[in-house]
Amino acid sequence: MSIADNITVVRNRIDAALARRRSIGLETGSVKLVAVTKNQGVMAVQAAIGAGIDCIGENRVQEALTKQDDIGRSVEWHLLGHLQTNKARQAVAAFDLIHSVDSERLAVELDKAAAKLGKRQAVLLQVNIAGEETKFGIDADQTFRLADKIMSFDHLELSGLMTIAPYFEDTEESRPVFQQMYQLFTRLRSENGANTNITWLSMGMTNDYQVAIEEGSNLVRIGTAIFGPRQY
Ligand SMILES: *Cc1c(COP(=O)(O)O)cnc(C)c1O
Repeated sequence: MSIADNITVVRNRIDAALARRRSIGLETGSVKLVAVTKNQGVMAVQAAIGAGIDCIGENRVQEALTKQDDIGRSVEWHLLGHLQTNKARQAVAAFDLIHSVDSERLAVELDKAAAKLGKRQAVLLQVNIAGEETKFGIDADQTFRLADKIMSFDHLELSGLMTIAPYFEDTEESRPVFQQMYQLFTRLRSENGANTNITWLSMGMTNDYQVAIEEGSNLVRIGTAIFGPRQY
């Protein structure tokens, strides 16, 4: 199957998952699809854009910058991977949305970098909802404190939350994790009212996006299902 065919399959599955959520009376909007192009070449990225993808996700600043030389900035670029504070400035210059803010120290550096570049940087807080030692992200109980901090910065815009669920062979096992994230997200939105732009709940990858959408995700990050296995 071609990249375009794969995208069609993914979009159909997104729609089907939304329909299941709606059929049990839960709130649904639309779902944003980010094509994750880490370890994929420029031709693959171009094929995805040719098939209607308008948002590209990368894990590393340098890899994104290299691809942007060829692809340009007419699509959105999202940073998904862990960010070191010394790359804050490059990241602010390169990305429309940074999903991986996981410390106050990083938020401070991003705010400074955005101020220098005259930009308001949209960010998500990465939550390590399952408390896995191997994963980046803040603990769930730190979410509100760090969210308040970010909202106090002039050059950052808190746009929502992101999580990477633990990998389960049986994706049903990830459902409670996604439910907890959705609760955190709705609480964050309701506590902050209309004067914020908390929009995105970024959760769901190739293995688990359908369950994530059933549980309220509105932004999925898909690599393998679009491009096939990555070559390392
Ligand atoms: C690699 C990656 C993805 C995409 O993973 P697939 O399983 O290939 O869909 C999504 N989010 C993050 C943070 C990633 O690092």
